[in-house]
Amino acid sequence: MKKCLISLLLLLAVACSNFSSIEKHRIGKPGESEMIMPLFTNQVPEELQLLRLKADPLRPRDIKSKLYTTLKSRMLATVLDTANTGVGIVAPQVGISKRLIAVQRFDKDGEPFEFYVNPVIEKYGEEKKWGWEGCLSVPGERDTVLRATQVVITYRDQDSWQIVRDTVRGFTAVIFQHEIDHLNGKLYID
Ligand SMILES: [Zn+2]
Repeated sequence: MKKCLISLLLLLAVACSNFSSIEKHRIGKPGESEMIMPLFTNQVPEELQLLRLKADPLRPRDIKSKLYTTLKSRMLATVLDTANTGVGIVAPQVGISKRLIAVQRFDKDGEPFEFYVNPVIEKYGEEKKWGWEGCLSVPGERDTVLRATQVVITYRDQDSWQIVRDTVRGFTAVIFQHEIDHLNGKLYID
């Protein structure tokens, strides 16, 4: 009986994700996983308000939900949208205030998009360079930003939940800085 109860509680913990009902609605059903999500921009006050929030960390039970798989798939479809392609995207840009980012790894063979859960910049390199940046949430604008040319990031492995550390250089390091700023409510125009 006790064993049964523990199993049931574990099952419930896995089944109950941390996504709010409005977030669940925005993510949609697994059948919609190829669909582009509407981008939140600084042009709409309510959307800017969400973009300005410090996003919540993902928990292990969120990662195990179907919503997480659907969200990743739809974020990828959105950043690859041929009408408006980007090199990185964060969950808050599609109205989900969670610490999840996708970055195009220009420093890896095939330049794949990879997802990072609860990423943190642990260390900024001393060397800094000015570079042009744009943002899917700030349409029609570009500006120069001073960024470190190398960063050390940490994040949670989505399967083992272990903390992983990676040193990233060049343009990919700039994308990580831009995307992780988003998770703290900061836009590059700040
Ligand atoms: Zn951006």
